Amino acid sequence: MKCPYCQTDNDKVIDSRSGEDGYATRRRRHCLSCDKRFTTYERVAELDIRVVKKDDSREIFQPEKIRNGIERACWKRPIATSEVARVIAEVIEGVQQCGNSEIESQEIGAMIMDRLIELDDVAYIRFASVYRQFKDINDFVQGVQPILSRNKIELQRAKNETPTQSKPR
Ligand SMILES: [Zn+2]
Repeated sequence: MKCPYCQTDNDKVIDSRSGEDGYATRRRRHCLSCDKRFTTYERVAELDIRVVKKDDSREIFQPEKIRNGIERACWKRPIATSEVARVIAEVIEGVQQCGNSEIESQEIGAMIMDRLIELDDVAYIRFASVYRQFKDINDFVQGVQPILSRNKIELQRAKNETPTQSKPR
């Protein structure tokens, strides 16, 4: 690493530790040429995944968009911040670990909706209405179907189950 003081590439790492968030390694270096000390940070390079949109155009995957979409859907809902953070992290990881250089935006949307439906009905509907671009009441009714049918199944299951049985999930 070139020294920022004397531009010589002759240094020794004197300390190496993980950054607060675990995403960076901080290295303290000692320039053997001018005797000054400086710090470098090492990070994992952003993975270059492209998102294929409905119109077949592509854009670079931006984790921020997932974060914003999920946070907006969960806004002011009674969901623990840690739960929202977990869903965001799971979806971002899911995209990054899909193993392809391209992923369909629909696939990402489905990953988010699968998790939101488990978390909160209103958050799910909010996300679905933006993501699926509900145009009228029919779209909305269609959008709530997964929740209605799930609630029906759960009601039936509750009727059949003994009270001692623990809740699934
Ligand atoms: Zn130096």
